[in-house]
Amino acid sequence: MKAFILSIGDELVLGQTVDTNSAWISQQLASVGCDIVAHKTVGDDQQLIEAAIREGSTLADAVVISGGVGPTEDDLTRQAIGTLLGEPLELNAEWLAEMQRFFTRLARPMPKSNEIQAMIPRGATMLFNTCGTASGVRATVGGAQVFAMPGVPKEMKAMFARDVFPWLKERSGGAVILQKTLHTFGAGESTIGERLGSLMMRQRNPRVGTTVSQGIVSVRVNARYESLDRATAEMNTTVGLCRAALEDRIFGEDGETLPQVVAQLLVSGGVATSVATAESCTGGMLAKVLTDIPGSSRYFKQGWITYSNEAKASQLGVRKETLEQNGAVSEPVVKEMALGARERAAADFALSISGIAGPDGGTEAKPVGTVCIGFAHSNGVTAGTFIFPGDREMVRDRAAKMALMMLRYHLLDKPMPV
Ligand code: AMP
Ligand code: MG
Repeated sequence: MKAFILSIGDELVLGQTVDTNSAWISQQLASVGCDIVAHKTVGDDQQLIEAAIREGSTLADAVVISGGVGPTEDDLTRQAIGTLLGEPLELNAEWLAEMQRFFTRLARPMPKSNEIQAMIPRGATMLFNTCGTASGVRATVGGAQVFAMPGVPKEMKAMFARDVFPWLKERSGGAVILQKTLHTFGAGESTIGERLGSLMMRQRNPRVGTTVSQGIVSVRVNARYESLDRATAEMNTTVGLCRAALEDRIFGEDGETLPQVVAQLLVSGGVATSVATAESCTGGMLAKVLTDIPGSSRYFKQGWITYSNEAKASQLGVRKETLEQNGAVSEPVVKEMALGARERAAADFALSISGIAGPDGGTEAKPVGTVCIGFAHSNGVTAGTFIFPGDREMVRDRAAKMALMMLRYHLLDKPMPV
């Protein structure tokens, strides 16, 4: 089963409203193994709507439309379907009575313009709207089944659940598309791709692909099979192969975040371990993400934001000579910051960050994006220097994430891969 998803509305093509309907519909269709051949968005223009429906009907078995079934001049989906069918619009008595009841309940007369919402092309089927006044339309165009629903997400979802999903599910014959996402941080998308190798071949099922968001490279696995049992088994095999290829570069799955995973490691094994932070360029971001998690008092002790050299010295005990000889963005300084924070907070671990987030302040030796991260633990202190690409926001975000990765690898008792 193939589906083509069409969103209609000037506000969508102008970028004033984000098309959330298509994403939601796609997710619903995947659960019954429906292949989405394309998403298309057109404005409130009847000819463009007709062309899009025609295109969808040649590419797919079902064209799922949202938008353009309201009562105003710019709502033209009904007319477009009528033209494609070569049939006139007729007043649907059942929906007209339903709308009249709706207005009676509000103690208001029904405006004449609302009548259009009960107009259905001859030979098409009316789809019931349980949350609003716009009826939907189901019609056969070419070989495809066309469903036209309101654009208002709430109304669309109710109509989809009532009349569209059951039709598609019945024809799917039990097929499913399962999805799983594995998250990594630290290696670039190309490195992850190289390690996955032939797992990423396009014709493979389950299909393996990568996406990047906020420095997190995620591996997406989609398994399309005729039954849930088969899809589950094949998904497990492919996820196992991805895990073998990427090893502990994968920090989490699906909705898991890096701070959550680190928090779990800190409290796992019965004895909770504690952490403190000493931050300069990240201004508290690391402490923020570590305390975003409910129950963080079990592991988070204290955080410092020591932006100035004086604060680094007076609050954390960083020596004046260390600052003068190496500069604030240096491994010796972040080591002393981490040691000072660990000791003063009486924590098991301390992470420290000092860097040049930009846009100014870079030098040839230490360009914008240079960040030193220190890590103090019971066996001493380590530090690393990184150069993160991007603007100020990106540099700060990546620095906080990298600090979490250093702690994670230590808690896993594994070296950080280079
Ligand atoms: P319509 O059914 O075309 O009158 O759409 C009514 C309202 O629903 C629009 O003004 C938008 O705010 C919203 N809407 C329409 N299409 C979408 C869509 N694809 N995603 C999210 N919201 C939408
Ligand atoms: Mg509209």
